[in-house]
Amino acid sequence: MKAFAAACEKIAATTKKLEKTAIVAELLTSLAPEDASAAAVFLSGRPFPVWEETTLQVGGTMLWRVVTEIAGKSDALVSATYRKYGDLGAAAAEILPRRNLSMDLAVSDVEKRFRAIAAARGPAAKRVLVRELLGQVSPVEAKYIIKIMTGDLRIGLKESLVEEAIAKAYGAALKEVQRANMLLGDIGQTLQYAREGGLSEARMKLFHSVGFMLASPVESAEEALSYFDPALVEHKYDGIRAQAHCSSSRGSGEQVKIFSRTRDDITDSFPELAEALAGLPKDAIIDGEILAWNYEAEGAGRALPFRVLAMRLGRKKVSEQLIRNVRVAYLAFDLVYMDGELLIDRPLSERGKMLSELLTAPREKRTRLRDQEQLAFDGADEVRAQIIRAPIYSAKSSEELDALFDTAQAEGNEGLMIKDPTSAYSPGKRGKSWLKLKRELATLDVVVTAVEYGHGKRAGVLSDYTFAVRDGERLVNIGKAYSGLTDVEIAEMTKWFLDHTIDDQGYRRLVEPKIVIEVAFNNMMESDRHESGYALRFPRIVRLRPDKLPEDADTVERAKEIYEGQKN
Ligand code: AMP
Repeated sequence: MKAFAAACEKIAATTKKLEKTAIVAELLTSLAPEDASAAAVFLSGRPFPVWEETTLQVGGTMLWRVVTEIAGKSDALVSATYRKYGDLGAAAAEILPRRNLSMDLAVSDVEKRFRAIAAARGPAAKRVLVRELLGQVSPVEAKYIIKIMTGDLRIGLKESLVEEAIAKAYGAALKEVQRANMLLGDIGQTLQYAREGGLSEARMKLFHSVGFMLASPVESAEEALSYFDPALVEHKYDGIRAQAHCSSSRGSGEQVKIFSRTRDDITDSFPELAEALAGLPKDAIIDGEILAWNYEAEGAGRALPFRVLAMRLGRKKVSEQLIRNVRVAYLAFDLVYMDGELLIDRPLSERGKMLSELLTAPREKRTRLRDQEQLAFDGADEVRAQIIRAPIYSAKSSEELDALFDTAQAEGNEGLMIKDPTSAYSPGKRGKSWLKLKRELATLDVVVTAVEYGHGKRAGVLSDYTFAVRDGERLVNIGKAYSGLTDVEIAEMTKWFLDHTIDDQGYRRLVEPKIVIEVAFNNMMESDRHESGYALRFPRIVRLRPDKLPEDADTVERAKEIYEGQKN
């Protein structure tokens, strides 16, 4: 781990990408195979590979306390040091005691410790293990261990650079490394394949989540058609993105797993969808949106607002009552994999056809879902969920698109998704093949960086949020808004912010930049009030975006686009 930390220091010290990748490549080849694999994962800023659902569940506050304890320093000093760096890892490196340590933990040992921490139940048990780990390493190692634990290395290294370094280290083609990493969702395993010269053997695996293809915003129907014409059009549903992995095998074992946009396994939150997806005639990975659904509406039913679905989110298990009260449907719009074949290079029109055929094909008789919550209560049949192929339309003119937009909104949907029928599926990429046309008002997805207590009846809760957009690796504040959330949401968020405070300034708290919210505003001004150089007029919080990670938040470039667009 000493060599790892030393390499990270060197990477942070240079801004040149080539130098960064060279340092990484050198580190990887100098390590034993299992350490190199673990290092590749750590260098991409996370304790575990992307596809895994494992999380440490160790908040900033716990790390803060452990560091304070080991350092034997006062809270005030730790706070001051933290403020100097704005990074707990860097602060720890300065205040932790410099001791002579006989032991050098291997990188793979640190990974094992992380796994033990993830497996430990409850904060007390986790804290003991965290303390033990941080107590056995040098300050600079602790710095990087903390950074990995909080999911942010901040050394100007993206996973794409780690891919480049792997290609360089093992003489592999970058394209092959990228493809294997996308298929496996595991940069450590990708490294292993590259080292053994077997990148072409990397295969997509059912039940390992794949990156989601993302959409770029457009301001108008004309703009959308300037990218491609004709367009394949779907409604933009206001639910949560979900990737369904369905196995056709009728033997024992898992049959269906559903992953969220953050690639968490959310199968148990939607047992009725897992049931409805079981027994497809072929193995498949389907992309779609989970919606709260009104089964009573005329015709094929229609979507209910996001706030209804919100009642079902963030729960590990759902009660029978909730399943009855908030009925859901899965609107499927893409097919990534079927029957052993990865379909991402085929055009959307073809994937779409295959999806329609798959969903209308006769089902195998349903077998029991092992390890998955059964809908085993009286009257379960009444709450079966539907798997619906999202209706597709085609548009050649902006008039046609505008008409479709109006119908979409009239049916309670957010707007339109406009897709290039010839396009491939690009996992994890935001390109111009999928465009989203939303409500006229501009919105930004931003990250909450600080919170304050409110006034009046909100005096006891943290209801005023300062939020930021991304600027490269950094977050820059762009505005502040009183929460437009419900009282229940504010109460829940208050608890979260109290648990994830990184600096308590009394009336105000800097918090871990993890919470993404969507803010709407009337217009934007240039201003030096916030670091981004912009300020929002009448900002209001539309909703929480638990389906998004901070890296999915909008950028300062996007803010600039909106600002320029509005000037014109
Ligand atoms: P946004 O969350 O505003 O960035 O918009 C992109 C999201 O829209 C996707 O991640 C999906 O969750 C959602 N969405 C809704 N309907 C569709 C659709 N027909 N095709 C693709 N994504 C959709």
